Amino acid sequence: MNLLIMGPPGAGKGTQAEVLVKELKITHISTGDMFRNAIKEGTEMGKKAKEYMDAGQLVPDEVVIGMVKDRLAKPDCQNGFLLDGFPRTVEQAKALDETLASLNIKLDGVINIVVPLDKLMVRLTGRRVCKECGASYHVVFNPPKVEGKCNSCGGELYQRSDDNEESVSTRLKAYEEKTQPLIDYYQAKGLLLNINGDQEISKVLADILAAVKK
Ligand SMILES: [Zn+2]
Repeated sequence: MNLLIMGPPGAGKGTQAEVLVKELKITHISTGDMFRNAIKEGTEMGKKAKEYMDAGQLVPDEVVIGMVKDRLAKPDCQNGFLLDGFPRTVEQAKALDETLASLNIKLDGVINIVVPLDKLMVRLTGRRVCKECGASYHVVFNPPKVEGKCNSCGGELYQRSDDNEESVSTRLKAYEEKTQPLIDYYQAKGLLLNINGDQEISKVLADILAAVKK
């Protein structure tokens, strides 16, 4: 089964991707890992990507898509894959379509984890980090035993500046603006699988499995 997964920050996409690939016995391709491996292996695309990154520039689409193509052609993708973090734009989605066609691969579905904006705000602004050891807590989902204090070292907990309401709200709006055209694109192709991410992790997974097996 060949799938894509997308979802806003805080939707639990990473968690779902991890369990989903185990459940379906398919290969997880996150763009971050793909970049690191292509550079480490010194592939042609990896070398090109590194040049741009070393120069502090954005890696252009044709290089990213080249890496995706190399990755999808590997034997571990023959039983299926879950592409995570790509595509991010309609242009990339079109380039991916061409690449898949050239490899004779058919996309089976695009998982879109949906969580209401106010719920995402609670999830993303509730994070607290220990100043001493870096342990991570959440005021609602994983509170420390003593408010404001780390369970393991007693250190003071603080909110990172990019977790405050204003930056989170900016991040979520940027995601929505950038992603809506992509959602429309896959909807029009009949591939979009909207999944309610505002429920327990196991229930979200069950919904994804039911949707992809249809
Ligand atoms: Zn600590």
